Amino acid sequence: MEDQRYRQLRPLYGADFHTCFYCGCLATEFDFAPPQAHWQSFFVRQASADNLKLPCCRECRLLLTGCAMGLVEQRREWLQTKLSAKYAKAIGVYLKWNHNELAELDYGLRHSIGAGLELGEEAHRRANYQGYPYEVDGAVVAQATIKPLPISVFEQRFDTLKQALVAVSEQYRIPQAKLVEALAKHDNNLEAVVLAHQQQQADQLAKRQLQQACRQFAKQHGQSSRYVTNSVERYLDKDPELTVAEALDKLLSERILPRA
Ligand SMILES: [Zn+2]
Repeated sequence: MEDQRYRQLRPLYGADFHTCFYCGCLATEFDFAPPQAHWQSFFVRQASADNLKLPCCRECRLLLTGCAMGLVEQRREWLQTKLSAKYAKAIGVYLKWNHNELAELDYGLRHSIGAGLELGEEAHRRANYQGYPYEVDGAVVAQATIKPLPISVFEQRFDTLKQALVAVSEQYRIPQAKLVEALAKHDNNLEAVVLAHQQQQADQLAKRQLQQACRQFAKQHGQSSRYVTNSVERYLDKDPELTVAEALDKLLSERILPRA
């Protein structure tokens, strides 16, 4: 029997019939916002609730078992967190690898990474699904589909995180896996990840150049490499504007020549 306390959410377009409103999979059951067992409590408290019955897949309904929220969008958020956690490993594989790299792997690895990639791609899509336009009691509800904000990296815009990762990895020659691992450290800001990587590379290059210049100088003036490097580093700490060459000149005129 129809539960009169709820109105049914129906897809506006044929393409969305029998589609889970939360994740986009095939819907075989219904979810209730708020859950039927909690309806009375929402009513008594006058708490905000959509009072909607909506198409839902089996997995989403099971994952939503512990969710007592009354608004559909709250329930979606809850569900997406659960989906992301349940498939975290596969989503990680999907974000870290791309299909071109698979070709270079041996058969066994290609097979297992490939399977993870596919599962991860589906899980990632489901965990970011935004619903579809719908009607309730014959009245069309304003466009329910909210496009996720595009991801922007140095003025370039991408519709999905995966697209951004693939492009940035290629353009800046940073492995995708490295990008994904650094994302958490940088508030999921891909631009910050690239900047930090570039800074790190510049620091390493500068360090190598400094060591090389000091070694050469030490040899030329019969000093120990370590003494020259330490002295130059001290000069640079005191005056960050100084170049390595200027620091070496200073070392020569202030310490080495007077002793000679
Ligand atoms: Zn679902």
